Amino acid sequence: MARVVITGGAGFLGSHLGDALLERGDQVVAMDNLVTGETRNIEHNFGKDGFEFVNADVSNYMWVPGEVDVVMHFASPASPIDYLEMPIQTLKVGSLGTHNALGLAKAKGAKFFMASTSEVYGDPMVHPQTEDYWGNVNPVGPRGCYDEAKRFSEAMTMAYHTHHGLDTRIVRIFNTYGPRMRPNDGRVVSNFIVQALNGQDLTIYGDGSQTRSFTYVADEIRGFLALLDSDINTPVNIGNTNEFTISELAELVTEMVDTGSLVTYHDLPVDDPMQRKPDITKAREHLGWEPTVQLREGLEHTIGYFRELLSEDAQ
Ligand code: UDP
Repeated sequence: MARVVITGGAGFLGSHLGDALLERGDQVVAMDNLVTGETRNIEHNFGKDGFEFVNADVSNYMWVPGEVDVVMHFASPASPIDYLEMPIQTLKVGSLGTHNALGLAKAKGAKFFMASTSEVYGDPMVHPQTEDYWGNVNPVGPRGCYDEAKRFSEAMTMAYHTHHGLDTRIVRIFNTYGPRMRPNDGRVVSNFIVQALNGQDLTIYGDGSQTRSFTYVADEIRGFLALLDSDINTPVNIGNTNEFTISELAELVTEMVDTGSLVTYHDLPVDDPMQRKPDITKAREHLGWEPTVQLREGLEHTIGYFRELLSEDAQ
């Protein structure tokens, strides 16, 4: 049993991670400043033994009294519309926040787990993306604040590993979807589902030929735990390898929700990656991990979640 601090513990991934850790008997300290995290993601844990919530901005000095065995750094705006709106907070949480979280882990003699991203590959020239690909990132473009903050986080994590001997993990997370995404999150899966449920047309950016590989949240969390429990200090891709064009995703969502939505076409955001798909050989071989939930099944759960959320919000 471990006591685990999760920064971003009220966010989409941080809250699911907290649930999975509690489920296996660990204790969780969820830290969040609720900029993009939401208390509704964690309120089912309020009052439970082994769960604490701390409202704090990890870009400021952070401290947790008592024993800490693991620090998992998940705090960051993670949707393009969020980091476009909050570029400086995004850079701060990925630099100062990562430094503070590493400092806490070092002071406590804890393991450190860094939530990195497929965005470190930028608009990739290598397909599918292997962990040894260095990426193609525009540092001064609109996505640079997120991509470079995460690249810095990886560099800082490795420096603490090599220089201080900290026991570290780095996961590169590919597009993940599922319950607890925010309806106004701006990402393609939540946008399309909410638009379809509201009978609105789906907004395709560009011509819809760009690709993503979508991972259901339960698979992603299982991958995090497998990596946490391993001894791999170098980055590991965790993502589904089934690649879809954005047009294919729109077709699937309109078929599954079936409210007669059509699609409309809009400008492609600047530096929007044209293709993305993980090579997961490393996770398969070293963690014995692979995704099991395919897109249609994952979308069913996610559509169910949004259907309920929208009807609650309407009341
Ligand atoms: N996208 C889209 N319509 C939307 C939202 C996103 O066509 O309403 C596109 C976006 O341009 C990108 C892809 O879907 O090519 C995935 O976008 P998302 O913001 O979900 O994630 P990311 O770009 O970070 O992979």
